Amino acid sequence: MNEADSRTLAARLEALGYAPSPRMEQAEVIVLNTCVIRQQAEDKIHRQLSQFKTIKERRPELTLAVMGCLVGQRELVKLQERFPFVDVFLPPSEPAALLDLLQNRALDAAAEAQETKCAVDTEWPVMPPSAQGQTVTAQVPVVLGCSHACSFCIIPYRRGAEQSRPRDAILEEVRRLVAHGIREVTLLGQIVDRYGLDLDGGYELADLLRDVARVEGLHRVRFLTSHPNWMSDRLLDTVASDAKLCPLFELPIQAGNDTVLERMRRGYTAGQFRDLVARIRQRLPEAAINTDVIVGFPGETEVQFMDTFQVLEDLRLDVIHLAQYSERPGTFAARQMPDDVPAAEKQRRWEMIEAQGKRILGEKHQTLRGQTVSVLIEGRDEKRDRWWGRTPQGKLVFFPDAKSRLGDIVEVELDWTGPFTMIGHPAESAGVIDPGYNSAAIAGFGEAGNRGNT
Ligand code: SF4
Repeated sequence: MNEADSRTLAARLEALGYAPSPRMEQAEVIVLNTCVIRQQAEDKIHRQLSQFKTIKERRPELTLAVMGCLVGQRELVKLQERFPFVDVFLPPSEPAALLDLLQNRALDAAAEAQETKCAVDTEWPVMPPSAQGQTVTAQVPVVLGCSHACSFCIIPYRRGAEQSRPRDAILEEVRRLVAHGIREVTLLGQIVDRYGLDLDGGYELADLLRDVARVEGLHRVRFLTSHPNWMSDRLLDTVASDAKLCPLFELPIQAGNDTVLERMRRGYTAGQFRDLVARIRQRLPEAAINTDVIVGFPGETEVQFMDTFQVLEDLRLDVIHLAQYSERPGTFAARQMPDDVPAAEKQRRWEMIEAQGKRILGEKHQTLRGQTVSVLIEGRDEKRDRWWGRTPQGKLVFFPDAKSRLGDIVEVELDWTGPFTMIGHPAESAGVIDPGYNSAAIAGFGEAGNRGNT
């Protein structure tokens, strides 16, 4: 979500005439987009802000903005008092205050210089010109906020109540992204499966996926994050029926013990989660299922933790996004449940699940050796003279090939697999199966593209 917000803000700043600065110290505008999902992330923001304070003291004309989840409505006054050197605070997905400030300054400057107009473009671009031709994947928010209120989670307090974006606005954004060379979009929502339930007309995520997949020039569509209570059979059938819809599910379990799940206010049991995984695998045997797990939730006993360990052992999921519980002020858990699992114990549980996940993924990927997978090229590893991209299941694959270009889909035969990466070579018979883009629209792709690992 933050990446999508950063992209749209960067596009709007470039529309106002700004360009990326090679060095932060030279920038006229600095925006810090923040995540406070865990204490560690919040600590990082504070360190970064002290650095900005020093720059601002040296150059008072610098415009400094802080956006994202740090900026809750209730925290605004406290933030303004604590960080008076910040010019403007922007709530998540709401960059208007910064754009207004910069536009007004530009208008004042134009008036002073007695110019008649200032270059303000009201048709906002969806992609910064500086990023065009550099990337082939983009995130598109479709549901903003969340109304679920899990007891540990700060997101509903910072991103507000759930709100689906209108279908036409989403489709228009996707079409415009494709025109800039984007070949894969990921539709985003805190509970993406609930798309449309707050709109009239019965138009749901399955319908949206189908319509987005029809956009000409787009190769792949992903969606995240799902919630076990809202993943319908209709959604699964839709994914199974269209090759453009990637068989990758981001399905957080959070814990495998029913008492912990209840205290987390997740709304399902471990048994229901197991059933859902079975339903997914029945319809889409090749699907990858990633998950999120929190260890050391308040009151989590050794036995309860081992239930989580056992569920993960049985289900053999794919990537596990693993976190140690950290108290988020204002949440139900922070108010009602003492953070009583010692740090060393949280670390031990974290290491156990991390090692388990790595072992299972390594074993699962080993069975793919010698198989051919479709890889959408997302970037170049210049050091080793090879491309990198992902399979429809989101697996990261490296391969050398002189013929390929960014945005191609290439059939790759896998020679080596590890838990997190795979290495292969273009399958002899297939080669590049779909150059798939208008080369005039994204000229220069071949040389660019070392945008690092996502
Ligand atoms: S569903 Fe996800 S975003 Fe919503 S409160 Fe729960 S963890 Fe947070």
